[in-house]
Amino acid sequence: MPDKHSLIPRLTKALGSKYVLTEGDDMAPYLTDWRKFYAGEAVAVVLPANTAEVASIVTIANEAECHLIPQGGNTGLCGGATPDNSPSNIVISMKRMNRIRHVDAISRSITVEAGCTLGEVKAAAAQHNLLFPLDLAARDSCHIGGNLSTNAGGLNVLRYGTARTQTLGIEVVLPDGRVLDLLSNLLKDNTGYSLRDVFIGAEGTLGVITAATLKLFPIPTATATAFVGLRDIAAGVSLLHKLQSTSEAGVVACELIPQIIIDHVRECYPDVVQPLTNPPAFSLLIELAGNGDNDALGGQFGDILNEALEAGLVVDATIAASEGQRQELWRIRELVPAAEIQAGDVYKSDVAVPISRLAEFYEDAAHAAKVICGEANVRVFAFGHIGDGNLHYNFAPPKGADDADVAAFARHFPAFDDMLVTLLAKYGGSISAEHGIGQKKRTMLLASKPAPVLDVMRTIKHALDPKGIMNPGKIME
Ligand code: FAD
Repeated sequence: MPDKHSLIPRLTKALGSKYVLTEGDDMAPYLTDWRKFYAGEAVAVVLPANTAEVASIVTIANEAECHLIPQGGNTGLCGGATPDNSPSNIVISMKRMNRIRHVDAISRSITVEAGCTLGEVKAAAAQHNLLFPLDLAARDSCHIGGNLSTNAGGLNVLRYGTARTQTLGIEVVLPDGRVLDLLSNLLKDNTGYSLRDVFIGAEGTLGVITAATLKLFPIPTATATAFVGLRDIAAGVSLLHKLQSTSEAGVVACELIPQIIIDHVRECYPDVVQPLTNPPAFSLLIELAGNGDNDALGGQFGDILNEALEAGLVVDATIAASEGQRQELWRIRELVPAAEIQAGDVYKSDVAVPISRLAEFYEDAAHAAKVICGEANVRVFAFGHIGDGNLHYNFAPPKGADDADVAAFARHFPAFDDMLVTLLAKYGGSISAEHGIGQKKRTMLLASKPAPVLDVMRTIKHALDPKGIMNPGKIME
C-alpha cells in the first residue's frame, strides 16, 4: 500500500492542491458509475490540466505502485471507469483537458484534448462547416478520451464507422510516464504496427489517452427520418437491405425499438410521442442523409416505404415533416437508457451478430430467457443499432415486481451471461459490440475468446504495464 503521507504531497506539488481531491464528498461522484451499479474507493481523485501533468501523475503512481483509473465523462456502462475497493487507487479525471488544439479544414481533421465532450468536438467541427459524425445520447457528458477508450459506436456507425474508424492519431501517456506522440492527420501511414489501434478500445488498461486527431466530413445537406412499423424483425432487416441497395442517399441510422420499450418510455416520460396509430410489436427509426434537399429525399424515402408497405414488410410509417418532428422521434430512442434504469434491476448486454442472422438470434435469445426465468417473470427489452447487427439485448423484471421479485430476477443474471455466450458462439457473434468489457464482462470475455487471443492480449498488457498499475480489474489481468 502506498504511503499516503508522501503520496498526496507529491501529487499536490505536481497539480496544485485544488486539483487533488481527497475528501469523501469531493471524491464521491468519481467513485461510482452512471447507473450507480458499481462503487469503489480511492486515495485521491486528480484533475490534470495538460499532458505534462498527466505524465507527472503516472510517473508518481508508477514509482509508488499505485493503481490509476482514467475517467472521462463517466457514462460508461460496464464499470470501466469505477475503481475497485483497493486503498491504492488514484482516479485521474480528464475533465480539465478540454481544449480544441487545431482544426485543419483542408485536410478535414481536428485535434482535441481527451477531456473535450463529444458535443464540444461536434460543435467545433460545425464552426468550420464540417461534421464529426460520432454520435450517442450521452454526447454532452462523454469525453472523446472515453469514446476512444471504449471504441464507442453509437447512432451512425452504419455510415461512418466506430470511434476507431473516425480516428487518425492519438497521444498517450504510457504506464511508465513516457508520452507516445501518435498524433497525425495522415490518411495513409503504413509504418509498422498500428500502435494507435492498441490503445483504442483498451479501456484505460494500457495508458492514458491525452489527445486525438479525428476525421471530419462534409455536412449532408438533406436528411429524412422515418418511424416505421414492421411486420416483424426479419422484415426490418429486408427493408434495411433494400434501402441500402436502392437509396441514393446513405442510411445513417437504423434503430430497432420494440413497442414494449416505447410503452415503458412513455410511462416514465408521458410527453413522449407515440408515432404510429396502431403500432406493431417492432418499429425502426431510420435516418437517411445525403446531398440535395429534404423534400426530394423525403419523397424518395416515401416511395421506398410505400413499396415495402405493398410488399407486406411494413405495416405503418411516418416521415418527420420538420426538424421538430425529427427530434421528437429521436427523443423516444434517446430516452431508452434512462427509462430502463427506472424498470428495476435490468440485465444489460450489448451483443453483435451478423445482420443476416439477427431476426433468428432475437427469437432464440428471447425464448432462452423465458426458459431461464419462466415466461411471466421476464420482459425482453432488446433494442438498438440493428443496422450494425448490434442489440442491447436487455431483460427487465416483470411490471409491478416487488423487491423480492426483483431480487429473484437478479439471481438469473449469471444464467443470462452463460446463455448469451453459448448463443453468440452459435451465431458467430460478440459479447460486446460497443460498450466494452470493463469489470462487467470479464468472465464472458474469458468464456468467449479462444486461448491464443487471450494470450496475445495478456502479452500486450504485461509488456506495456508490467507493474499492473493501469485500471486493474478491467478487461483482464
Ligand atoms: P468513461 O465512462 O469515463 O470511461 C469509459 C472507459 O474508458 C473506462 O474504462 C475508462 O477508464 C476509460 N477512459 C476514459 N477516458 C480515458 C482516457 N482519456 N484514457 C484512457 N482511458 C480512458 N456507448 C456507445 O458506444 N454507443 C451508444 O449509443 C451509447 N449510448 C449511451 C447512452 C447513454 C444515455 C449513456 C449513459 C451511455 C451510452 N453509451 C453508449 C456508453 C458510453 O457513453 C460510452 O461508452 C462512452 O464512450 C464513454 O465515454 P466516457 O467519457 O463517459 O468514458
